[in-house]
Amino acid sequence: MIQQDMMQLGKRRSTIRELFEFGRQRKEAVGADKVFDFSLGNPSVPAPQAVEQAIRELLEEKDPVSLHGYTSAQGDAGVRRIIAENLKARYGVPCDPDLIYMTCGAAASLTISLHAVAGEGDEVAVLTPYFPEYRVFVEKAGAKLVEVPCGAGFGLDLEALDRAVTEKTAAVIVNSPNNPTGVVLKPEEISALAALLSEKEAAFGHPVYLISDEPYRELIYGGKRTALPAQVYPDTITCYSYSKALSLPGERIGYIAVSPKARDAGDLYAAVCGAGRALGFVCAPALFQYVAGKCDGVLPDLAAYDENRRLLTEGLREIGYETASPDGAFYLFVKAPDGNAPAFSERAKKYEILLVPGDDFGGPGWARLAYCVKKETIVNALPAFRALYESYGE
Ligand code: PLP
Repeated sequence: MIQQDMMQLGKRRSTIRELFEFGRQRKEAVGADKVFDFSLGNPSVPAPQAVEQAIRELLEEKDPVSLHGYTSAQGDAGVRRIIAENLKARYGVPCDPDLIYMTCGAAASLTISLHAVAGEGDEVAVLTPYFPEYRVFVEKAGAKLVEVPCGAGFGLDLEALDRAVTEKTAAVIVNSPNNPTGVVLKPEEISALAALLSEKEAAFGHPVYLISDEPYRELIYGGKRTALPAQVYPDTITCYSYSKALSLPGERIGYIAVSPKARDAGDLYAAVCGAGRALGFVCAPALFQYVAGKCDGVLPDLAAYDENRRLLTEGLREIGYETASPDGAFYLFVKAPDGNAPAFSERAKKYEILLVPGDDFGGPGWARLAYCVKKETIVNALPAFRALYESYGE
């Protein structure tokens, strides 16, 4: 029998995809350069040169059968060794190659991790605003998503988190730099979060896992630094993806790293492997596992994103918009002038601007602009943003 919940999920496109499709049609109708499409987080800088070089080397070095053949279910052992070494050397994160599981990007990393630690009757606390697919992943694991309001400037509200984490909480999801706000949690916020969760674990007598969703880890501007949860909290499951840092979203490659300091780390990892197996996520794409092995640690060219970030933030603020202060990722959160974000997004379409209302992100009243676009798109969009803003005074 067709499963009604799956059918509904398949029929209902996400707001982001709806807008993207609308944009495609408008571009056909009026021309691509007339539509200011800030809907999708698709990297706009090409993959670093090292990626192409790695692919060429692999084609020459490896015999085609092993290059395109199955790796072990959890991923190639050599690649996992490189990733573990890099995580230790670059971030001081405790890491063990035998606790790494290669995946098809962060989406797979998250859904596998959630299935490994949460089920019927459990709750998963999520700091708002958040990537809307978290709700799908949490609910399909059988658990309940609990939204935790954010603090000033979209930072951590420790008291709100304290109230939200209960005996039923199996995990907390953190995403820094954040989609949709671009805000990077400060090292002291990560430490405070770790201290709070440690207290909760001691009080409840069971682990509260911290699932750290890190696809934007390398996209931080202005020399700012972030702490990684795995540095300070033992029960951390790191979910990583090469989609954004290496501009490879279509290649579907990432990993899960279970902290060796987690309690019963071996069993936790076994549950990750089991969830990967049950969900059919075994043996991530082989060629791109090897590419990841050669390019792990290659940093993206952030200059273009950084220029876009400054142009858009300063341009919108100068017009009168209120915006968040993004230090990372490639998103800007903008307040709807009258507080109604879905209406703001609809009205923006009249000016050929596509922006995503924050409601699905758990951030009502705000809208997300993905500024991973050509610089000209921003320059040409600013007069349209001005006309849009002024339309609220009419
Ligand atoms: N997590 C966050 C916060 C994201 O923004 C995205 C994609 O935009 C994902 C997870 C999924 O990433 P991937 O394409 O690697 O599956």
